[in-house]
Amino acid sequence: MAQVEFFTPAEDAQFGEGGWDAVLVVSQDFTLDANPELSQLVAHAASVDQRIGKEPTLLLAPGLAGGRLILAPTGDISDDYEDVRRIYEAAEEGAKMAFRSGARAILLLLDLPGGDPRYLNAPEVAALGCGQGLYLNPDVEDQPQVRIGLMNGQDVARLNALEAGRVAARDLCGGDPEQMAPPAFADYCVSLFAEEPVELTVVDDQEQLMREYPLLSAVSRTSFAVARHAARVVRVEYNPEGEVHQTWLIAGKGVTFDTGGADLKVGGAMAGMSRDKGGAAATAGFMKTVAMLRPKGIRIIAELGLVRNALGSDAFVPDEIITSHAGARVRIGNTDAEGRLVLADLLSHLRQDAQEAVSPRVFSIATLTGHVVRAYGPYTGVVENSVARRGQQGQLMQQIGERWGEPVEISTLRREDFAQVAGRSESEDLLSSNNGASVNISRGHQFPQAFLLKASGLDKHQLASDQPIPYLHLDIAAAAVEKRDPLYGKPTARPVATLLAMMEEL
Ligand SMILES: [Zn+2]
Repeated sequence: MAQVEFFTPAEDAQFGEGGWDAVLVVSQDFTLDANPELSQLVAHAASVDQRIGKEPTLLLAPGLAGGRLILAPTGDISDDYEDVRRIYEAAEEGAKMAFRSGARAILLLLDLPGGDPRYLNAPEVAALGCGQGLYLNPDVEDQPQVRIGLMNGQDVARLNALEAGRVAARDLCGGDPEQMAPPAFADYCVSLFAEEPVELTVVDDQEQLMREYPLLSAVSRTSFAVARHAARVVRVEYNPEGEVHQTWLIAGKGVTFDTGGADLKVGGAMAGMSRDKGGAAATAGFMKTVAMLRPKGIRIIAELGLVRNALGSDAFVPDEIITSHAGARVRIGNTDAEGRLVLADLLSHLRQDAQEAVSPRVFSIATLTGHVVRAYGPYTGVVENSVARRGQQGQLMQQIGERWGEPVEISTLRREDFAQVAGRSESEDLLSSNNGASVNISRGHQFPQAFLLKASGLDKHQLASDQPIPYLHLDIAAAAVEKRDPLYGKPTARPVATLLAMMEEL
């Protein structure tokens, strides 16, 4: 499936050994001290072309692999406010230039001064940038295989597993509303994991879904009538060999298309809503990476809620009161706040798993709110429950995300957020949302976690409880798709790389 594959090239590969057909150098200033041949080529070119070091350029380089030397400048990375995305983006542009020039076997060399902790993972991030640049949607028929030779000693097996997960995340997030409708999304997962050591279950029975995922099924209610749009819950479980030291439980929002439902998105706000499945897509991608790497000591259970939020005669409407899987009576405030309904039932099932699990941690990953986009621009917002906050889990994720080019902003859950979702009458325990676009409401990306805690029963696992459970909610509404074109641009596969690095550090 992966179009890009990483390799460790032989030492003399840059001079044409092994069939490589381009050398791509990512650098700030192209000093290339350890590589005098390249350094000389760059100096000659710079004497006749002032673009060298300022924009991506291709040099004719007889004697080098394929005769092509591509220079991808990062710009000034010494500035205090820069981060490793400079390297990611330079590699992305350089790989695209190499590909367009005809190269299909590209040697990647990163030339950076050492010692800056911000750039600790720069060699790996550069490789992932190449993968991002070369990725094509799966419906594009011509998908040439591209080999990338990594010349900085990167861990090739780890990067190939990461790239396979990122390809799956991008495929699933980017597919159009029919290509990746809930049953098609589930089918993709079945083939994605067919050869992997995971247990995969697809819940497709309407009665079972309505019984066990009542809030999720309310969102899907009018879509059940159309077989190819009917809801699915995909559960993927990875069990390591040997002893388990920690358990991760991840809920992914997979709203395959969001019309807003009865609270219809109007005024042109509906386009791009096929990307409302980015959380489930990233979760599936992360599970693919895990399945390929088979880490020891950690057990991971993911539940993906795949639903089309459609408008029709059987659509759920505001004011309805629906009892969640965990037993909370939820009054619907606005049908366009459907993601939290999908997640709440998934989280309730994962809560039951967590109660039996070794050292559990819960995550939800979702393109949840317009508010996080307004508040944080292109960044992921992470909201911690009290237990995660005490353990500084958000900070850990922020530090790791920074190093992997997937930056994260930390938000604080507060009492106002619980007041926001409190029931307004004796008939309900919770109000799912206020009635307006989250983008216009203060604390619009924080208070959904208060709802998720209450509606899933995870609020019973606070610091003073018998079993405190840390829970991080990731709102990736701004981060799931490249910022340059949020409606139709490439999915980013965030935060798959961060989750993997976090798993390895915990
Ligand atoms: Zn919505």
